[in-house]
Amino acid sequence: MSRYIFITGGVVSSLGKGLASAALGALLQARGYSVRLCKLDPYLNVDPGTMSPFQHGEVFVTDDGAETDLDLGHYERFTGRPATKTDSTTTGRIYLSVLNKERKGDYLGATIQVIPHITDEIKDFLKEKDGTADFILAEIGGTIGDIEGLPYLEAIRQFGNDIGRGNALYMHATLLPYIAAAGELKTKPTQHSVKELMSAGIAPDILLCRADRPIEEGDRKKIALFCNIPYERVIPALDANSIYDVPLAYNNEGLDAQVIKCFGLPDKAPALSTWKTISERIWQPEHTIKIAIVGKYTNLTDSYKSLNEALVHGGIANKTKVELKFVEAEIFEDESKIFELEDVNGILVPGGFGSRGTEGKIRAAQFAREKNVPYFGICFGMQMAVIEAARNLLGLKGASSTEFGPCDIPIVGLMTEWVKDNEKVARSNKDDMGGTMRLGAFPAMLKAGSKAAQAYNATEISERHRHRYEVDISYAKKLEEKGLLFSGLSPDGNLPEICEYKNHPWFVGVQFHPELKSKPFDPHPLFVAFVKAALEQSKLV
Ligand code: GLN
Repeated sequence: MSRYIFITGGVVSSLGKGLASAALGALLQARGYSVRLCKLDPYLNVDPGTMSPFQHGEVFVTDDGAETDLDLGHYERFTGRPATKTDSTTTGRIYLSVLNKERKGDYLGATIQVIPHITDEIKDFLKEKDGTADFILAEIGGTIGDIEGLPYLEAIRQFGNDIGRGNALYMHATLLPYIAAAGELKTKPTQHSVKELMSAGIAPDILLCRADRPIEEGDRKKIALFCNIPYERVIPALDANSIYDVPLAYNNEGLDAQVIKCFGLPDKAPALSTWKTISERIWQPEHTIKIAIVGKYTNLTDSYKSLNEALVHGGIANKTKVELKFVEAEIFEDESKIFELEDVNGILVPGGFGSRGTEGKIRAAQFAREKNVPYFGICFGMQMAVIEAARNLLGLKGASSTEFGPCDIPIVGLMTEWVKDNEKVARSNKDDMGGTMRLGAFPAMLKAGSKAAQAYNATEISERHRHRYEVDISYAKKLEEKGLLFSGLSPDGNLPEICEYKNHPWFVGVQFHPELKSKPFDPHPLFVAFVKAALEQSKLV
């Protein structure tokens, strides 16, 4: 049977609960245990796929095609365990399932209520995971006190009783705000948050106290006393300069040791050398480069979470600090603004949707191609690079994507069908917006000797996708004559997966999202190669 760790948060949102859960997962792994992390989000959307990245940050896609919360990205990056569809749920999904059962008559005419029907459905989600790992870490989204969160608290309270209190642990993350006028950190919000949690019947075993400065012993004692928790289980969780320092920092404060103790397991030293190496590489880089990210949501870097992290990983592999310059694509509609790209060693155009900013992205691709600046186009960034090539190398001025409306030369168009698990999947432009994309892992075949094949050191790969439109393969031959090689294709040869210029230091566009699979201890090969190319470029200037 698995042991369960439930993670809740109080006082404010954005406490970094997801990161804390992921870091604890990594620490338990370092002690030789297998872990599985999952997320329960109290909002009503069935999945975050249709939520604006402005509001909710990046949509993380799993191998099996689920559109999930970005916290699953943290889980994967810290534990290396690929997340799956069954690792996250939302209130929308829970209700959908209960209501479907009600319509089918599964409840035999019973009155359907939050307790026990909704709470049982939540418990079933948790139960499904039993036995799949030594520890199941379940994070409850939102903040204690939210109306939406109540059924989850009730469900995890019951669950702890069901499996026996020795098999469940409740960890609560809070904030100790610093009040400048008083010159001190305040413990009262934490006390109130714990009180609120206790009114739901849950007494936390461990408190993770976020603060922007060291927590004095007196404050820790006060929290221990008022919250009825042993002093050593009030864990200070101070702001870290790099998220990859968090496992080491929490270990230092005794988090994993206390968790092990709560479960009555033997305390043996964790193997932390990997995390130490990662931390050293981040803090003692040998080189520095600057990469421009030309995108649309540049005022909220959470919408490019995995991408930012993958660049850090590429830097770790090259002992290089990667500085990011976020550039709003729209500015390049004014051609004179192109100077903004003159001080960077590489240009990355990330995934995106909709027409705003596209002309700017196309300009950025053109600049990279003409000036021999390393370019990495991801999904939308590949589509824009191909449109640029069609317009400026083939002279097809009307080349565009049907995503922006009807156009003369739809070099990027809506996919009508593709193959998934040996079956054809079809869609039309009349389908719903939710759940109609090419989603999840698909294989691709690489041309031997290409930059892509060199980076991967393989000719067969599998990468995660999230898109509706495709580059039209029928232009491949003409583009290849102009130097743009389609070096990666779907196994049937119909869908372009990777393109690259033969006579350019490093210009690669990919139809998938390599950033989703990158990890600090296993950096994605394309990010390693891109950072390396940018590093070489930096030595030229
Ligand atoms: N909007 C494009 C498509 O749907 C690209 C999507 C993306 O970049 N993730 O094909």
